[in-house]
Amino acid sequence: MAKKVSNTRLVKATLLALWFTLKNLLRKPVTIQYPLIKRPLPERWRGGTFALTIDPETGEENCIGCKLCEKICPSEIITVEMEKHSGRGWAKSFILDLQACIQCELCVQVCPTDAIVMLHSMETPTTRREDLILDKDKLEANGKLYHAAWATGLKLQRLHEPKKPSVISR
Ligand code: SF4
Ligand code: SF4
Repeated sequence: MAKKVSNTRLVKATLLALWFTLKNLLRKPVTIQYPLIKRPLPERWRGGTFALTIDPETGEENCIGCKLCEKICPSEIITVEMEKHSGRGWAKSFILDLQACIQCELCVQVCPTDAIVMLHSMETPTTRREDLILDKDKLEANGKLYHAAWATGLKLQRLHEPKKPSVISR
């Protein structure tokens, strides 16, 4: 049999609910009219999508086609085809299928030339699956559309280096 709620408890609960409503009635809303208004992303934010970078001094692609990112990717969604000319390696083709990316950042962390970077952006909405297959052209275009996140491969590799033992002065 259902337990009978006493009138006193009912009145208390109603008053409490009214109190909460009144208390919050004059408060500023915490929500914003996204996407018309956007909150600034945290400084160390990285994610969303990726870019392949270009050396601003030479205008050359930084990717040397070494395939390290392809080998480390746990989702196996990167495919790099390498070619060699002009004394260095190049990515003849580069595909990253964003559909299965778990945003682990390992591809960025192992890159020896800061060629692949995550971006300081979170907006990559699309209704078409094919938009999530990023080829070299799309990845290079992303580099022009968005800022790279602070955490490039070389910076992250330096952070992981073991600290040198401090010299004890006598
Ligand atoms: S972030 Fe992780 S899952 Fe995504 S492409 Fe890079 S290595 Fe693969
Ligand atoms: S993006 Fe970096 S790790 Fe991947 S193939 Fe190019 S140089 Fe190598």
